[in-house]
Amino acid sequence: MRHQSGRHFLQIPGPTNVPDRVLRAIDNATIDHRSADFAELGKACLEGMKAVFQTKGDVVIFPASGTGAWEAALVNTLNPGDRVLAFDTGHFASLWAKMAKGLGLNVDLVPGDWRRGVDPEMLRARLQEDSRHEIQAVMVVHNETSTGVKNNIAAIRKTMDAVGHPALLLVDTISSLASMDYRHDEWGVDVTVGGSQKGLMLPPGLSFNAISARALAANQRSRMPKSYWRWDEMIEVNRKGYFPYTPATNLLYGLREALKMLLEEEGLENVFARHDRHADATRRAVHAWGLEVFAQSPGEFSSSLTAVLMPPGHNEAEFRDVVLRNFNMSLGSGLSKIAGKVFRIGHLGSFNDLMLAGTLCGVEMGLELSGVPHKSGGVAEALAHLTAQARESSAAVR
Ligand code: PLP
Repeated sequence: MRHQSGRHFLQIPGPTNVPDRVLRAIDNATIDHRSADFAELGKACLEGMKAVFQTKGDVVIFPASGTGAWEAALVNTLNPGDRVLAFDTGHFASLWAKMAKGLGLNVDLVPGDWRRGVDPEMLRARLQEDSRHEIQAVMVVHNETSTGVKNNIAAIRKTMDAVGHPALLLVDTISSLASMDYRHDEWGVDVTVGGSQKGLMLPPGLSFNAISARALAANQRSRMPKSYWRWDEMIEVNRKGYFPYTPATNLLYGLREALKMLLEEEGLENVFARHDRHADATRRAVHAWGLEVFAQSPGEFSSSLTAVLMPPGHNEAEFRDVVLRNFNMSLGSGLSKIAGKVFRIGHLGSFNDLMLAGTLCGVEMGLELSGVPHKSGGVAEALAHLTAQARESSAAVR
C-alpha cells in the first residue's frame, strides 16, 4: 500500500483509538506487582471500574480479551450440564452460546432476527414453560457489535422478575461499557462482562466481570472446572490491591488514566450523551444517503456503532477496501451470516465531532468512488445536526 500521511482512522467498533495520554501512561516502567505502589494502582483500577459498571459489588479484572471474561462468567456461576437460555441476536451472542455449549452446558438458543433484540414476550414464554426452574442463567448481549442492536436489559430483568424465575442474568457489555448507559446494580444484573478495547479507550488485553451477591452465592456452589478464571482467589487478594498471578501492570496504568478521563474529567453522563449524539448524527447521514440502518427498531439503536446495509449487488468488503486504500480509514466488516451485506461505522471511545465528520466524509467519498448508489448530502445533514447541538449546548452554558 502506498504511503499514507496523517493519522489512520480506526473506525471499527473496537479496538478504538487510544488517546495519546493513555499511551503515555502505559509507557511507564513496569513495577514490582507485590509492591505498595502496585497496590495503589490495583485499588484505583478496581474502584474506578465499580463506578463504570455502576455497582457497589465486586469487580474482577483479567489479563485477557473479552472472550476470557465470557468464560469466567459461565464457569464461576454454573454446574456441568446446567440449562442456560441464550438468544441468537447476532454474531457475538451466538459465539457466547457456542462457548457455553463447548463448556458442557445445555444451551436453549432462541432463534432470532439479527435486526432486532431479545423480545421480552418470547423471554416470558420461555421462562413460563420452565415451571421446574431448570434454566440456571439467561445470557444476553447488551450491545450486539455485529449488528448495532441494543437490548433493553432493565426490561429483560423485569420480565424475569414478573414470572418469578430465579435464573441468573448474565450480560455482555463489551461494546457498550463506558459508551452507553449501563447500570449493573439498578438493572439487577448478576454478572456483567466487559472488555478494555472499546469504550474504555485502551488497547485490547483486559476484561472484566462485575458480580452480584447472588452470583457470588452461585459461585460457592459452582462445580464447573476452573483455575485461571477463579473469582474467589482473585477477590481475596484484590482486597489489598493485588492479583493472584502476574497482572497486566502497564495496561492497568492505562486503565487508571482512562478512568480519570471518563469519571473525573468528562463524567459518565456526558460520555453517554456524546455517544448518543454521534450515533444520532451518523443515522441522519445514513438516511440522507438513502441507505438503511441495519437495526430496525428505534428503541434498539446502538450508540457506539451503526451497521449499514449495502444496496443489493454491492459488497461491503469491496467498499471498505476502497475506503481504506484511498482514505486510510478502517470500517467494520460484516460478520458471519451478514458478511458482504453490512458495514459498520464505529463511533465510540476517544472521539469528537470533527473525528465523526472525517469518518462520515470518508464513507461518503468511498460510496461515490466505489459506485454504490446513494444520494449526496449525508455529511451535510450530520454536520447541520452537530452544529445545532453545539449551538444549544453553548447557549445553555451562557
Ligand atoms: N462480545 C462482544 C459484544 C464483542 O464485540 C466482542 C468483540 O468484539 C466479544 C464479545 C469478544 O471479545 P474479544 O474479541 O475481546 O475476546
